Amino acid sequence: MVHELSLQLIESLPKTDLHCHLDGSLRLDTILELAREQGVALPTFDRAELFRMIYAGDVCESLEDYLKAFDITLSVMQTEAALERIAYELAEDAWKENVRYIEVRYSPLLHQELGLRLTTVVEAVLRGLRAAKRELGIRYGLILCGIRSMTPETSLRIAELCVAFKNRGVVGFDLAGAEVNNPAKLHRQAFQLVIDNNINCTAHAGEAFGPDSIAQAIHKCSAHRIGHGTRLVENGDLLNYVNDHRIPLEVCPSSNLQTKAATSWETHPVDFYVDYGLRITINTDNRLITDTTVSKELWLCHKHYGWSLDTIKEIIIAGFKSAFLPYREKADLLAEITAELAKIKVPANGKTREVVRPAPSEVQRAGAPTSPDDPRPSTDILRQ
Ligand SMILES: [Zn+2]
Repeated sequence: MVHELSLQLIESLPKTDLHCHLDGSLRLDTILELAREQGVALPTFDRAELFRMIYAGDVCESLEDYLKAFDITLSVMQTEAALERIAYELAEDAWKENVRYIEVRYSPLLHQELGLRLTTVVEAVLRGLRAAKRELGIRYGLILCGIRSMTPETSLRIAELCVAFKNRGVVGFDLAGAEVNNPAKLHRQAFQLVIDNNINCTAHAGEAFGPDSIAQAIHKCSAHRIGHGTRLVENGDLLNYVNDHRIPLEVCPSSNLQTKAATSWETHPVDFYVDYGLRITINTDNRLITDTTVSKELWLCHKHYGWSLDTIKEIIIAGFKSAFLPYREKADLLAEITAELAKIKVPANGKTREVVRPAPSEVQRAGAPTSPDDPRPSTDILRQ
């Protein structure tokens, strides 16, 4: 029997968010404030009306339609101060639901309307994330995105930027944007540059296009993870390959329903993937546009698929295992999280646990060598 879990209980669990777009995860009030400050003409200044225009609802017409909300968010994300603030607030929002490690992604190419240099755009976001780590203790990594519908040369610029900011907060490269008619292989040179410099990469694939898109991302572009992978289920052979190689899928269930990558919770393949043993991570995609959190996504999976607390813990651990972090740092973090999760049980009295997070000073120390008599559990779990 699966105990009913409250959203609060899931919020109390330490978590990751590995697929989260900066330009889809702003606070509504921040958009309004920034627009007033910057003199940007939003389509409306009425809060409820603005939310209605941005929120993708239960379903929207298509992925292209979903992407339209970004015109509004991007209009206030063209200055250094705005980018720094938005990055900080996103990390703070994630921290509030006990996300311990977040990978924030965005395309610097979309923040140059007022003439900002690409490096300035990256530095501004990193400043915001660094401040959140310092003040709140949340760890982060930044992923820079090439855009499928833009030219391969622009993706190459982003790949170069990943190389320039390697070990300075940027942990990976991604290819995002409209999948149909824009195959990943056209951007192969960008992926190659990233791989040649031993940097991680992921790609949105199998969301608006079939499994061939996933095969291309893995075989032609060497993607280490797959964004969404909703349509992987259509090709059993490839599905086995992904499973055998433990290639993580960054699944974002509510977003998939809104973009019609899946038609309903019942037909979404994520429950099957989990059953089959694929390495599944659950993520938000766009916290504002989808009006969600990682806790909410996990809770909805619990509601629809009856995922138990143990299953949710396994998925959380898969999230930490799949992080684009150096091995040693990941092993230490994973040991800490596994020990913490082991203590969390379904409360017998129906009450929820209080959220306990490590102090920022403990996070700063993380990554330091551990002594041989360190009481923390073995990190062998990473090698499984
Ligand atoms: Zn995405």
